[in-house]
Amino acid sequence: MRVAIVYNHRPETLAVVQELEKLLVAHRIVRNDDHPEVVVTVGGDGTLLKAFHRYLPQIDHVRFIGVHTGHLGFYTDWRNYDVDRMVDALSRRQPSSVSYPLLQLKITAKDGVHVYTALNETTLKGIAKTLEARVYIKNEFFESFRGDGLCVSTPTGSTAYSKSLGGAVIHPRLKALQMTEIASINNRVFRTLSSPIVIAPDEWITIIPGEMTDFVVTLDGHQLWHRQIEKLEYRISSHVIRFDKFEHTHFWSRVEDAFIGWDDTGQK
Ligand code: NAP
Ligand code: MN
Repeated sequence: MRVAIVYNHRPETLAVVQELEKLLVAHRIVRNDDHPEVVVTVGGDGTLLKAFHRYLPQIDHVRFIGVHTGHLGFYTDWRNYDVDRMVDALSRRQPSSVSYPLLQLKITAKDGVHVYTALNETTLKGIAKTLEARVYIKNEFFESFRGDGLCVSTPTGSTAYSKSLGGAVIHPRLKALQMTEIASINNRVFRTLSSPIVIAPDEWITIIPGEMTDFVVTLDGHQLWHRQIEKLEYRISSHVIRFDKFEHTHFWSRVEDAFIGWDDTGQK
């Protein structure tokens, strides 16, 4: 068993990482950050996002375990005081995992074609002026967009940026992509659907930005830099992210814990 550790630099995280390193040695589990079978992240969802992009070239061969040192996260459902049990389980059990869909973004620009994979979402946003773009679904014209921007997210990303934009929370077992609007302009001249849409697994979205528009493209919180983007295509990736299944918290419990926080008597 080869295990990699990715972590943030908060003091409480570093303490957990130290303990984790000791436990791995005690269980004769090899630390191998270059070619791991399991990637353990310690920190928050942001830490898991970072680890995902680092191990993306090996995504078909690794599974992730997220330990959180802050609040319970969506990708990080092991509590920091659980590391002992987690390492114990890793050393004894047969590997089993759950997998969630990823988003493939293909950018056609003056400098060539570039393919990216997102775990949460990708956005297209106007900078100072409004973004103008034509939206196609399955190569059929759908709408002409004017406003701040558009966000396309995965089911696991539906609790992140997409949710702030009024998107639905989508169970990650569904193979779907959701597109949400960022401040669309709707008046007698410009008209968009104005509600989030969820597309089916065999569908894809194409966005053609207006030629005069200045915009940025972000992917999981990072900006992508390309000269003169002509076209962006979004579809469900042929790859998935795998999480270790042991004690994976029920999805709706995580949603409830993160956003509502009532206990089972109905009290805050
Ligand atoms: P960040 O500013 O630390 O992340 C923003 C918050 O989003 C953090 O609380 C993070 O949790 C949480 N988060 C990340 N992925 C999530 C998920 N799948 N479900 C629920 N919450 C999630 O920046 P970052 O850590 O590098 O994360 C980048 C992400 O920030 C982007 O992918 C985007 O989803 C999100 N974002 C949101 C907005 C918005 O809501 N208006 C704007 C920009 C970006 P942790 O504290 O556990 O890391
Ligand atoms: Mn973060």
